[in-house]
Amino acid sequence: MKPFVGRSLSFVLSVLCACSSSSPGTPAAGGSTGGAGGDGTGGSTAGGGSGTGGLDGAGGASSGGGAPGAGAAPAGQGGWAPDAAAGGSPGWATSPVAVHGQLKVVGTQLEDEHGTPVQLKGVSSQWLNYESKTFPESKAAIQWARDNWKLSLVRAAMGVDANGGYLGTTSANANPAGMLKKVQTIVENAIDLGIYVIVDWHTSNAVTSAGGSQAQQASDFFTMIAQKYGGYPNLIYEDYNEPNKVTWAQIKPYHQAVVAAIRAVDPDNVIVLGTPTYSQDVDVAAADPVAGTNLMYTLHFYACTHKQSLRDKGTTALSKGLPLFVTEFGITPADGGVVRSGDPYVCEDEGNSLFDWMKQNNISGASWKLDQCTDTSCILASSAPVDGPWTDDVLTTDAGGTTVSAGVIQPPTGGGHGLFVVNWMRQ
Ligand code: MG
Repeated sequence: MKPFVGRSLSFVLSVLCACSSSSPGTPAAGGSTGGAGGDGTGGSTAGGGSGTGGLDGAGGASSGGGAPGAGAAPAGQGGWAPDAAAGGSPGWATSPVAVHGQLKVVGTQLEDEHGTPVQLKGVSSQWLNYESKTFPESKAAIQWARDNWKLSLVRAAMGVDANGGYLGTTSANANPAGMLKKVQTIVENAIDLGIYVIVDWHTSNAVTSAGGSQAQQASDFFTMIAQKYGGYPNLIYEDYNEPNKVTWAQIKPYHQAVVAAIRAVDPDNVIVLGTPTYSQDVDVAAADPVAGTNLMYTLHFYACTHKQSLRDKGTTALSKGLPLFVTEFGITPADGGVVRSGDPYVCEDEGNSLFDWMKQNNISGASWKLDQCTDTSCILASSAPVDGPWTDDVLTTDAGGTTVSAGVIQPPTGGGHGLFVVNWMRQ
């Protein structure tokens, strides 16, 4: 997600942790990220990606989901009804991946293996190191969302230089094996369920203005992911969530290194590349794109904050030929609608404008975030069962909230954009 502009990473993470800390099973948050301090974490944990034993050692590997590259969902899953009312979008015969197969990028468009443009719709996990409950890891619930929300995409947002993340803020709080296991569970469930899955290196600090870089650690990580899953059509790589306080000239060599590592193993699956200023400055990236095939660029959008000016940046980038993927968005302020910050809103008018723009340009998206908490960007209410079903009554909503201005609603405590984004998926 996009942290608070102008505030330190440690503050942002402490707030995020505070959100999660009210739930059972979540590590205490306070002060634990104090060492992060924004920039300067990159490279400080060199070697954090090693010693995990690799994916095969993480346990629980599933061979289900069809042969790599087969472009087909496992037989017999059923439950994904053809949708004649989807406004011209194809109905699913058995699953999104069974319909669309191997994705490719043609011009600015994401196309399926039949050459048909495709708009994927889904959700992002919480930072996997901060999630309050294991919602994204539940195969039963994700299947329910596929069949009842028309979800075709899930994003595994793996915290990196964060407390409990893949590299940690220090080696003492790094949890590479735990992060790998969560990612592996989400990916293998997606393969079994025939949905697409983004593996996201979730950080703002993969490169720093001081010259730090996580390029080696990220390359090692994505090499493992590519070796394990690069033959499946389901997989999408996202190498850098939200670059910040660094220029495109500083970011681009990181992307080039990670793309080269992935392409050494996996020649074709889509890679989505983060852009400057919390993945907003896609117009800047458009002026000097990374060479390669099946590359897309990240645009993150929070409807209460960014509005038309960010859509204009996106339109400019598209006009220059840059393919975009909204790997994360909220119908909330850019801090995710943190109640403590005093702006816990849902902005439906701007949200509809965002959805219209994405549909007009056939841009895929994943909503931040599949968790329960008091942030208005949490999709699930506290009553939501981990393994589903996630019926509408366990989604957050702004119904009954206070109208702040036209289209801007302050939901009741525990409310949020959940039902709004689920109804977008259903369109
Ligand atoms: Mg591949």
